[in-house]
Amino acid sequence: MLTAAVILTGCDSQPDTTKLAGTKVDAAAKLKATKAAKVKNAAKVKANELGQIPVLMFHRIVPKPQTTDDRSPQQFRADLERLVREDYVPITAAEMVAGKIDIPAGKHPVVLTFDDSSPSQLTLNEMGVPQKDTAVAILKEVAAAHPGWKPKATFYVTRDMFGKTTREEQAQMLLWLKDNGFEIGNHTSDHLNLRGRSHKEVEEQIGKIAQQINSLSYTKPTTIALPYGNQPNKKDWALNGKLYKHQGAFLAGYTPAPAPFSKSFDAAGIPRIKAMDKKGDCAQFCSHAWLDWLKKNPDMRYTSDGDVRTVAYPKYKAPYLRKSFTTWSLPY
Ligand SMILES: [Zn+2]
Repeated sequence: MLTAAVILTGCDSQPDTTKLAGTKVDAAAKLKATKAAKVKNAAKVKANELGQIPVLMFHRIVPKPQTTDDRSPQQFRADLERLVREDYVPITAAEMVAGKIDIPAGKHPVVLTFDDSSPSQLTLNEMGVPQKDTAVAILKEVAAAHPGWKPKATFYVTRDMFGKTTREEQAQMLLWLKDNGFEIGNHTSDHLNLRGRSHKEVEEQIGKIAQQINSLSYTKPTTIALPYGNQPNKKDWALNGKLYKHQGAFLAGYTPAPAPFSKSFDAAGIPRIKAMDKKGDCAQFCSHAWLDWLKKNPDMRYTSDGDVRTVAYPKYKAPYLRKSFTTWSLPY
C-alpha cells in the first residue's frame, strides 16, 4: 500500500490508472465473494434473525418457593442447563434492544431477567464472592461448566437494592454487577402500578431510581421492566423522561419477543415469559411450554448467522424486515 502511494504521488511518474481500475474491480469482486460466502453460511445454519427471542422473567431464587414467581436453586440450575442443551446463549436486554446480538452461528439468543432486586439474586461475602445458591452464583457455576456460555443477565432494580440499606453497600452491589458484565435495569423506585398514574408520578417513579443507580454506579439504565407488566397511560412515558432514556420497556407476559429487526418489534412493550414448569396457569404460557414450542417450531425461532453486523433471514421473510436495518440485511 505504502509503495503504491509513493509511486502515485511521485512527481516524475503518472498515476497508473489501469492499475487503479483493476484494484477497484478486485475490491468489488472480493466484496461479492465475501457476501456470497456469508449467504452460504447463513443458509447452512438456517439463520433466522427475524425470528422470536425468549426473554425469561425470574424473581426470587429460594430453597422453598412460596409463589409461582419463585424458583428453587435446583429448578433454576435445571432451567439454565436446558438452555445450554438447546443451544441458547444469553445476551442482555440492552444488547437485544440495540440489535447487538453477538452469538455464534446456529445458536439462539435468550435474555435472562431478574426483577425486584432481592438478596436471593445477589448476596456477596466480604471478599465480593457470591453466596452459594444465589442467582449470580448459579449463573457463574453453569457458565464455568460450559465454556463459551457467558453468564449474562439483566437485573431490574427497585429501591430494595438487594436488601442493602447503606449507600456504600448499595454501591457495592451495583458495582459488582457492572464489573461482572451484568446489566442494571430500571424497575421503578417503589414498584407501583404505573397504569392510570399522572405523567409527573410516572416520571418520578422511573427518574428517582435512575438517578440513584447512576449516582451509585455511574450507570444509566437503557432498559426498564414495568412493575406488573403494566404500561403507563402513554406508553412513551416509560421510555423517555427528564432523567432517563430507555431503548426498551419490558412487560410481564406471556409470549416470546419479536426480534429487534422485525416490524413486529415494539420497543415500548416487549413481552417476557415467566420461568415456570408446565402446570396450572403455566400449562401454556410460561417458559417450559414456550421452550417446547420454540423447539418444535424452529422456523419461528431466532437463529444467529454468527455475524453481528448482518441481519440474515430466509428471503420469504423479507416483508417483516424493519426498514432501518435494510443496510445490514442478508436474505438467502
Ligand atoms: Zn417486579
